[in-house]
Amino acid sequence: MMKIGLETRQKHPNVGKISTCRGCGAPILWLISPKDKLTPIDPAPTARGNLRIDLDYGVWLMILNFGEVPPEERYISHFATCPNAKEFRRG
Ligand SMILES: [Zn+2]
Repeated sequence: MMKIGLETRQKHPNVGKISTCRGCGAPILWLISPKDKLTPIDPAPTARGNLRIDLDYGVWLMILNFGEVPPEERYISHFATCPNAKEFRRG
């Protein structure tokens, strides 16, 4: 995994920033997916989360082995928790 470079920051200027969901008003953290897509993550960890995040790199990864990731380090996509995900997706 590579540290976020200038090219990535130019492509995703909002990486690592927190903004407000247009669907529900909750805070969302913008991080890069394994497919290099900027996606909203809930900034607070949750035991039922299926992602781990690396803020230094501004990326998230699916948790493959839950035994290696304590509950307080698990995160979840805002798409999974937003009560207005349909509106949110429409953006
Ligand atoms: Zn929302």
